[in-house]
Amino acid sequence: TKRDWSLFKRENNITTYKSDIDPIRNWSDYNLIPRDILTRLTIDLGYGKPTPIQMCSLPNILMKNQDFLGVAKTGSGKTLAYLIPIFIKLLKTPSVHNKFRGLILVPTRELAQQIEVEGNKFGVCNLKSIVGGHSLEQINRDLSLDIDHNKEFVLIATPGRLIDCLDMGIVDLKYLEILVLDEADRMIDLGFEEQLDTIYNIIQKTRVATYNNNNLQILMFTATLNGTNISKLAESKLKNPIIIKLTSSS
Ligand code: ADP
Ligand code: MG
Repeated sequence: TKRDWSLFKRENNITTYKSDIDPIRNWSDYNLIPRDILTRLTIDLGYGKPTPIQMCSLPNILMKNQDFLGVAKTGSGKTLAYLIPIFIKLLKTPSVHNKFRGLILVPTRELAQQIEVEGNKFGVCNLKSIVGGHSLEQINRDLSLDIDHNKEFVLIATPGRLIDCLDMGIVDLKYLEILVLDEADRMIDLGFEEQLDTIYNIIQKTRVATYNNNNLQILMFTATLNGTNISKLAESKLKNPIIIKLTSSS
């Protein structure tokens, strides 16, 4: 009912919810999550329930093939809010190309490596990070080593290093289906705006429509939407996005 929904929104600090489908309240709602991922979440990690941003992001990213903007403070579980939907989407439509279908752009190398470790624990996809500080030769080697070819690839990168790799032809994003801009506010703060534009333009130019997905789905996560440049980034990169905003309780 309407009253339950307002209560749920209040309890979970959901201030904006622009979508016509309901959030999940438990991992098993809508039967979105396959058993192995569910086991990993609940038994291995001990995460009894999704966090509010995960409750909102999971069904929306998975059930709507639409861009997504999630605003929630640091520590609210945004990493799994996009990693789980990416895993499920890629599992559902295995590709024959052995190419990157998911790309996560992050502001720092530490964050890239953290996401790589966290994501690889699920054993669902090959997550590979490319960051500054590694030589292009080393990156090229890393991308071909230790890869389980039965699994889908997800790339995690800082903008500058990714551009180098694209220029050198080490990485190719022709088959990209999901692009995540994580910590978009920090990427703006660190002056990555122009590089994000460059990457976005390269993706638009080189992507070919794959047999199972004609649209690139862009997911943007940020702790804040305050600041002209961050709202401009959202407006210029996201097409008719689902918008979910959570505010911290006072
Ligand atoms: P953010 O990106 O919003 O700053 P993180 O994704 O880094 O947040 O998550 C913050 C912490 O919460 C991490 O230690 C993560 O493992 C933990 N976490 C994520 N999801 C859950 C959950 N559903 N239940 C409990 N803890 C969680
Ligand atoms: Mg984060």
